[in-house]
Amino acid sequence: MATSTYGWTERRTSAGAGAVAGRRAPLDVAAVRRDFPILDQTVDGKPLVYLDNAASSQKPRQVVEAIGAYYLRDHANVHRGVHELARRATEAYEYARERVARWLNAAGPHELVWTRGATEALNLVAFSVGRARVGHGDEIVVSEMEHHSNLVPWQLLAERRGAKLRHVGLTDDGRLDLDHLAALLGSRTRVVSLPHVSNALGTINPARDIAALVRERTGAVYVLDGAQGAPHLPVDVRALGCDFYAFSGHKMCGPTGVGGLWGRRALLEEMPPYQGGGEMIERVYANHSTWAEAPHKFEAGTPNIAGAVGLAAAVEYLDGVGLAAIHGHERALTRNAMVLLSGVEGLRILGPANAEERAGVVPFVIEGASAQDVATILDAEGIAVRAGHHCAQLVVDRYGVPATTRASFYLYNTVEEVRRLAEGVTAARRILLE
Ligand code: PMP
Repeated sequence: MATSTYGWTERRTSAGAGAVAGRRAPLDVAAVRRDFPILDQTVDGKPLVYLDNAASSQKPRQVVEAIGAYYLRDHANVHRGVHELARRATEAYEYARERVARWLNAAGPHELVWTRGATEALNLVAFSVGRARVGHGDEIVVSEMEHHSNLVPWQLLAERRGAKLRHVGLTDDGRLDLDHLAALLGSRTRVVSLPHVSNALGTINPARDIAALVRERTGAVYVLDGAQGAPHLPVDVRALGCDFYAFSGHKMCGPTGVGGLWGRRALLEEMPPYQGGGEMIERVYANHSTWAEAPHKFEAGTPNIAGAVGLAAAVEYLDGVGLAAIHGHERALTRNAMVLLSGVEGLRILGPANAEERAGVVPFVIEGASAQDVATILDAEGIAVRAGHHCAQLVVDRYGVPATTRASFYLYNTVEEVRRLAEGVTAARRILLE
């Protein structure tokens, strides 16, 4: 007799969750690290220090095993087949949707659209909401804090519809200028799309307060780019007060190539499809078609089934550790990093001075030194960080620097790793400037 994939997922993940740190606080980093074998290696003879988590997180064994088990036992195409494997694959895929939707506190699984990641989720909203709601002369509010994924799709929409983009400015300490936001909101505002957390500055934005402001002043659709929020903060989409929340699996311990868009049901129903093809139709005629119900209306073609299974396992894993504990741990590391790095001569940290307002991201510049050179020297020490504009060109422009070096933390990083980062940065400064 076949085993239900639903049952299999529940068993595996509960074992996984039990094997990690549980809901204890503070977080048991040593136990967590045992779930991430990739961290246990050397680079040029030095222990790897992985601080590039804002670009992509590492994956725990439980996620890799869930994907492997799906492919080794349960794989077939979803929704169409009547045979056993098709049934199991469909069950795994739809269970994953239900699990991730529950994690976000969505009203139900029908509110979660699977996508390739945050980028596709934001393109989907821009395209479909744009077609339904944005016309000539209408306004779309974004900010100078955007990742290009939450800027370029709106630029494309504005160009198509003859709409105007308005950009909320930033304060000197890396926050959204809320007075400027309030001044930009008006009767022509159709969309407000902002980051929950900035990938380039680390700022946690006051998403709920912004929701209240948007509701008070406009009838606009409020979109949150949650690519850096979902991995690090407990997310309750209904409490946040947004209409859409976009996120990527690979930044939250899940696989690459999968993510999601949470949307309010009424809006998802009102929106036209994003792409056409199999799976998204109800009935096809020679010259027109009718659409399946949301979320399937937005999922043309064979989906990333294993990706969804892996993402559900990631959510199960993060729940086992506890998002509040993860956030607390990252905050402690961030505080530590900010204190140690501030001691390096000529070093300036971008973003809020208060570590409590950041989600584990510390971007910095050393006067007179190239951000890339600093990252290259750190790499020789086994420390992985990122340098550049971080796909947020407007941010580096705003602060008058060509690039920053960015350290970003996650649940498996340690205080010792922060100390090695500070040592490496001190050495980099010496090598480059003395
Ligand atoms: N928004 C933000 C804030 C991000 O940090 C990223 C990824 N760096 C994205 C959107 C895009 O995510 P993805 O590349 O996974 O689609």
